[in-house]
Amino acid sequence: HAPLHIVGGGLAGSEAAWQIAEAGVPVVLHEMRPVRMTDAHKTEGLAELVCSNSFRSDDAETNAVGLLHAEMRRAGSLIMRMGDAHQVPAGGALAVDRDGFSAAVTAALEAHPLISIDRGEVAGLPPDDWDSVIVATGPLTSPALAEAIRGLTGEDALAFFDAIAPIVHFDTIDMNVAWFQSRYDKPGPGGTGADYINCPMDKAQYEAFVAALLAGEKTSFKEWENVPYFDGCLPIEVMAERGPETLRHGPMKPVGLTNRHKPDEKPYAVVQLRQDNALGTLYNMVGFQTKLKYGAQAEIFRMIPGLGEAQFARLGGLHRNTFLNSPRLLDGTLRLKAMPRLRFAGQITGCEGYVESAAIGLLAGRFAAAERTGVPLTPPPPTTAFGALLGHITGGHLSADEPGRRSFQPMNINFGLFPPVEVPREPGKRLRGNDKAIARKRALSGRALADIEAWLGLAQREAAE
Ligand code: FAD
Repeated sequence: HAPLHIVGGGLAGSEAAWQIAEAGVPVVLHEMRPVRMTDAHKTEGLAELVCSNSFRSDDAETNAVGLLHAEMRRAGSLIMRMGDAHQVPAGGALAVDRDGFSAAVTAALEAHPLISIDRGEVAGLPPDDWDSVIVATGPLTSPALAEAIRGLTGEDALAFFDAIAPIVHFDTIDMNVAWFQSRYDKPGPGGTGADYINCPMDKAQYEAFVAALLAGEKTSFKEWENVPYFDGCLPIEVMAERGPETLRHGPMKPVGLTNRHKPDEKPYAVVQLRQDNALGTLYNMVGFQTKLKYGAQAEIFRMIPGLGEAQFARLGGLHRNTFLNSPRLLDGTLRLKAMPRLRFAGQITGCEGYVESAAIGLLAGRFAAAERTGVPLTPPPPTTAFGALLGHITGGHLSADEPGRRSFQPMNINFGLFPPVEVPREPGKRLRGNDKAIARKRALSGRALADIEAWLGLAQREAAE
């Protein structure tokens, strides 16, 4: 076989290279460090962890990232094997010795007979004679390559800032307080006129909320994060600083809405949430991008009537991030529709986190190798962590419905991305609250592991034939 090319030897690129080589296909891995560094990387090691040394929870039964670990181990992940080998004590989390881990990944890739490593920047579109390329250059993609990709995909396809609003699990919203309604009951494209969830506030609640926003602890920008953001994407606490009425005339305006539970009381302000995934299990807080510290966010947002018990699938944040509008730009096997010889992997596709980036690298590697060898490979089922994450990236997500605002945002793996599951019942026993939530997670996990085994078995049989 002619070699495949991978640009970027981070978490995703390293895993992709390993998967391709293990499938018997030669691969050239292009990594620009140490010739050219990024603002966050400090070494020349492959799969360098730029910040924390944690792969997060290793609990495969009740935690979605733990489940992803388990699926990756079953799929022969190099990142997981080296993570396990270089583990440091961290309670239920999998944390690693970052230098030992990176050195081990680098050594394994260097030693593989089908992998060659080329240290240099790919400073523009990959040459035409590279007929199959995986671009895995991460959130800090070098400017020359980012510019070239932008030229291919359109001006707004790559984001250079990342303003994100919190996302809430639907089943933790109190619908005895909140209600479904679009402003003025407007159906909008594909909508019903009841597309938003509305949380009402009276005057006292609003004033207390604004005061809490002003007092809440904010994260400060690091120098390299100092990038512009649109006026339309101002953090809510910045809007609150502009005056006590700003939010009430902005994202929290109460117009065109009638409280279904108390039709005679006109709300003073309203927080709206919009469906965030096709399944309807996740809702994002409209206009609530924020750089409040995580702890402050959870506390302050639970002051909102209806969100008193809210569980967050992700909290808001604001930092530099280069990522594609993948649901629009990529096909189901991560190829760029506008230039299918380019496939994307890692955080640039709109997943978030070391483990998620590596997982998408694993899938991209397998898709690319299968294409080269002519062995059919169906994408993993949506009931698995691999499939749920891939679905978020390539189309399970609803596309932007407001001009100028993107609704596709990078996300960690979480159970809200999985299709609902039947929770097994024990006769005579009624589960409630936390017990019920745990039983649901166990059911989702059990189904995922059975389905991933079946998918991997099928892939193996097809390769053998
Ligand atoms: P990377 O691991 O960044 O790999 C991309 C590689 O491509 C790099 O080695 C880079 O040098 C190379 N490259 C870039 N451009 C070119 C080019 N043109 N030619 C050749 N090579 C190129 N996630 C967590 O789970 N925990 C955290 O604590 C965490 N902290 C983060 C902190 C920061 C500052 C950032 C930016 C992200 C953080 N993330 C964190 C998010 C994410 O998990 C990491 O960014 C992760 O490394 C992404 O993996 P990746 O493979 O997509 O990109």
